[in-house]
This record gives sequence, structure tokens and C-alpha cells, in this order.
Amino acid sequence: MIPGVRLILLGRQGAGKGTQCVRLSRHYVVPHISTGDILRAAVKEGTDLGLKAKEIMDEGGLVPDDIMIGIVAERIAKPDARSRGFILDGFPRTVPQAEALDEITAEQPIDVVVDLEVPRELVLQRLAARRVCQDCGTNYTATGREKMPWFCDVCGGDVVQRTDDTEEAINRRLDLYESQTRPLIEYYDKGGLLEVVDGTGSPDEVTPRVVAAIDGRPRVPVP
Ligand SMILES: [Zn+2]
Repeated sequence: MIPGVRLILLGRQGAGKGTQCVRLSRHYVVPHISTGDILRAAVKEGTDLGLKAKEIMDEGGLVPDDIMIGIVAERIAKPDARSRGFILDGFPRTVPQAEALDEITAEQPIDVVVDLEVPRELVLQRLAARRVCQDCGTNYTATGREKMPWFCDVCGGDVVQRTDDTEEAINRRLDLYESQTRPLIEYYDKGGLLEVVDGTGSPDEVTPRVVAAIDGRPRVPVP
């Protein structure tokens, strides 16, 4: 069996991170740990941290770092992550979070941080072409040649653009991501963990690049 990996995957929204996380999780047989999912799981399980997070989210607040870090720590302490590793998706977002992560992974440190690089213009095009069925949630990519109104192939519902997928909203999210993430990328570059991988092309073209970048690095096998 191929060795597992302790991986952080970074990339702009629309860089294809979600798709690659699913594929890499299968390839390396490691859990895909997305912060949204583990937060929901902690709330559902009713852990102390989950309940605290729920209280804050119910009031419309953002879950503070210490709680988020605690929830990540609990998740990566579970047997699947301890024995094989994990893919972290959506965490860390800031340098203080990265420093906290270094502390909680001191025994089993991160092997590699992959930054999936897709030029902003391309991401903007991909996101601007994104359409979704209002009824069943099936995703589509607009080519501009669709018959209007556009009906879903799966359920016949209306296929529309999400209201937060306007060019203005997308640009705002990309700006925020860049200002938050640039220091993080520098942090991991300085630490010698960063691999920048070309994320352009189809998912089938991108996956082997990411695997090559990971496998090209020394990694400490999980005991
Ligand atoms: Zn549908």
C-alpha cells in the first residue's frame, strides 16, 4: 500500500481544490478534512467545542481561532488520521492558525503544503460560468449557447446563476483570499513545505501533477 500523507491543500476558490481533495483522499487513503464539514460534525456530535461553535454561529458570529483549532485537533487525533494522515482543506487560513497547527502536529508534522495555482482571470471565468439547479443543486457550466430559460437535465428545475457568483462578489472573495493567504504561502515557503502546482487544465491533467509534487518530497511514514 502506498504511504499516506499529511497534506494541506491551498488554492483560490474555483481552482478545483474540492475535486482534487476527493481524488487525493482516495489515492492516498487519507481522510479529507474540510473545516466546514468537521465544524458541522462537531456541532452534530455535540462535543464541548461543537456546542460553543454552534452558540457563536447561531448569533451570527465567526468561530474564533481557538475553537476552530480545537476542533481540527480533535479531528486529526482520530485513528484514521493518526494512522494514515489527512488532507486539510480550508484550514489554516492565517499565519496564527498555521502556527497553532504546527504545535498540535508537533509529533506528526505536516509533510507538504500544495498551492494549486490557477491564474485569477481563469478562476474568474470558471466561477462566472458556474450555474446551479435551484431545485436539486446539480452544477452546470454555462457555455453561452444554452436555450433560455435553462432547465435541469436531472429534475427539470430552473438552472440559474448563484446570487453570490456575480463578477463583483467573486472579485471581492478573491481579494479577501489573496490578502489572507499570501502571508500563509510565505510562511510555508520559508518553512520549506511549499509546492506550487499548476492547476490549469482538466482535473485529470491536474491530479498527476499534484501526486508527483507530493511523491517527489521526502515524507516521514506514519508509525
Ligand atoms: Zn435539478
